[in-house]
Amino acid sequence: MFQKILIANRGEIACRVMRTARKMGVKAVAVYSDADAKALHVAMADESVHIGPSPVSESYLRAEKIIEAALATGAEAIHPGYGFLSENPDFVDKVTAAGLVFIGPSAKAIRAMGLKDAAKALMEKAGVPVVPGYHGDTQALVLLATKAREIDYPVLIKARAGGGGKGMRRVDHPDEFADALAGAKREAKSAFGDDHVLIEKYVDKPRHIEVQVFGDNLGNAVHLYERDCSAQRRHQKVIEEAPAPGMTRELRAAMTDAAVKAAKAIKYSGAGTIEFIVDASQGLKPDRFWFMEMNTRLQVEHPVTEMVTRVDLVEWQLRVASGEPLPKSQEEISLDGHAFEARLYAEDASKGFLPATGTLHHLKFPAAAPGGNIRVETGVRAGDSISPYYDPMIAKLVTHAPDRPSALALLVDTLESTEVAGSVTNLAFLAALATDPDFASGDVDTGLIGRKQESLTTLPAPGPDILADAVLAASGLDQRPTSPDPWSALAGYAHFHPVARPTKLRFRDEEIAAHATVVDGVAKVELEGSAVETKNGPARRMAKWPGHITIFERAVGYDFAVPDPLDRADETEAAGSMRAPMPGLVKLVRAVRGDTVRKGQPLLILEAMKMEHTINASHDGEIAEIASEGSQVTEGAVLVRFVEPT
Ligand code: ADP
Ligand code: ADP
Ligand code: MG
Repeated sequence: MFQKILIANRGEIACRVMRTARKMGVKAVAVYSDADAKALHVAMADESVHIGPSPVSESYLRAEKIIEAALATGAEAIHPGYGFLSENPDFVDKVTAAGLVFIGPSAKAIRAMGLKDAAKALMEKAGVPVVPGYHGDTQALVLLATKAREIDYPVLIKARAGGGGKGMRRVDHPDEFADALAGAKREAKSAFGDDHVLIEKYVDKPRHIEVQVFGDNLGNAVHLYERDCSAQRRHQKVIEEAPAPGMTRELRAAMTDAAVKAAKAIKYSGAGTIEFIVDASQGLKPDRFWFMEMNTRLQVEHPVTEMVTRVDLVEWQLRVASGEPLPKSQEEISLDGHAFEARLYAEDASKGFLPATGTLHHLKFPAAAPGGNIRVETGVRAGDSISPYYDPMIAKLVTHAPDRPSALALLVDTLESTEVAGSVTNLAFLAALATDPDFASGDVDTGLIGRKQESLTTLPAPGPDILADAVLAASGLDQRPTSPDPWSALAGYAHFHPVARPTKLRFRDEEIAAHATVVDGVAKVELEGSAVETKNGPARRMAKWPGHITIFERAVGYDFAVPDPLDRADETEAAGSMRAPMPGLVKLVRAVRGDTVRKGQPLLILEAMKMEHTINASHDGEIAEIASEGSQVTEGAVLVRFVEPT
């Protein structure tokens, strides 16, 4: 086994590879760009090497720089993760030429599968069923149009160098062919520098089912069953699962046989995935599946396979790359239960899935729950930023349980108890999909999300209860009672009785004006057209971050913009009141209501963290209210209110 490896990647996958390396006693070297200097994968690593500026072309894609880093740190092998250089055969050649081991397949195997047209030709020869269509060299419009007609519409135009769903166009009618072809070629040229296309029959009611394969350098190859990735948006995976719902013994046997045959045909070594498209229009039939492409790397969704087979695929990668045989034979690999993975992204589902950036001011994932198994794969911590340079993935939420309904229920629970504030996310969309009746019944094809996009992405408007929670929090009335005594309930506020406070909030583009009052320990929030009373303060989970309050209700994070209570630059706020800079006890009060005070004059002493802080008047004025001696206040609670200047 290696002593030390370098991980040529970032984010969750770099962290995930490192975890296994650590478990195996292998040292891990991280590489990082400017933007990632403080990233989790760097913090986790035994050593790290800076490889350049933030753009990927100047850092994570620089083969020479990465190889140099491996040599300088004495790493013996390079794990590429997924994306970046993972499927670049020239990189593999360079790694090998430098005397290092590439943790993955040979350059030759990657080349054989790199272009979809050549891969299909190869698979056809190996006896693997491929999607009917044209994958020849000639690219003349007339020929392609004729082929499309022969294949029969609808057809799918695909970039042979494509990946990540790019360079793909479905065409339903011959009249649209020329335009679609031009569009696909344009996209392919700019994304992959290659505008060669193939044409495939567009499969009816398509399901994406892929088989995990693994080979070693001794000529062995096994499969680790299938994953279903049919929940897709624009050809990109959203929720994956293993095994495939409704899978039959016959279809599984046929697909896994074909996958192992495919791997053996190219003497494949390491982790790989054979992707098939399945026509589910008449149920799952053993003669209705076809090879689409092979991904010659660890797949994003590999954890679902790990959960149901109890195999650590990264461990296998390291073992096989260091020359060991496959740790298990086919007979020793069995299926256990059901697993789901949901991809949590910083993106705005309600705005066409626009990628988002921002600081993750608040980030909370559920811990393992009884009766099931939760796994969170992430590369970020609270306080980290989602930058515009990289994939905006926040985490992969993975659940495992004895059967599909319980694994799905656990996924829903997991989504509903995940909290992110500071950036918009697709969390609510994921939960809407996970609770969709068709998805829940396993009746999922790649068109499901598209057909229901409107309802899956429409966020519910916050009801009066949620608004009331936000108003209470914004007015500082959000401390939960620690004692049943109504007098000390809403402790920070019991000293203002009664208190009446107008509050302004913004939800999306709408201004919300509300009035919060506390009378005898009961908080009342008056909104336009409704009033909400509460004895207990806000009822929901929430996060406060600069200028905002996010209220969590199930998987939805309602983000309210509020004036920052601690922002002294806020003119009206500063003129009207002074707030506690930290939670504490009001020890001594030196002024009473009606007093006229001068700026700088000591008004009260706050004891916090075992220290006394003198709170001086922030400006000249007349005191309208002041906290009472002995009261416990929360951070941001109003200590002194001045008579509003007129
Ligand atoms: P598929 O190619 O079948 O869609 P995946 O869903 O595993 O496979 O990945 C989608 C594509 O995006 C792949 O080409 C993968 O390498 C790339 N990718 C995904 N996440 C990242 C990331 N964080 N950084 C770089 N590339 C990524
Ligand atoms: P990529 O390299 O972008 O992952 P794939 O060939 O794997 O490209 O196709 C991506 C997705 O497009 C598939 O998961 C599937 O949903 C859809 N797709 C691909 N080929 C077909 C087809 N012939 N018929 C219907 N859908 C298809
Ligand atoms: Mg694919």
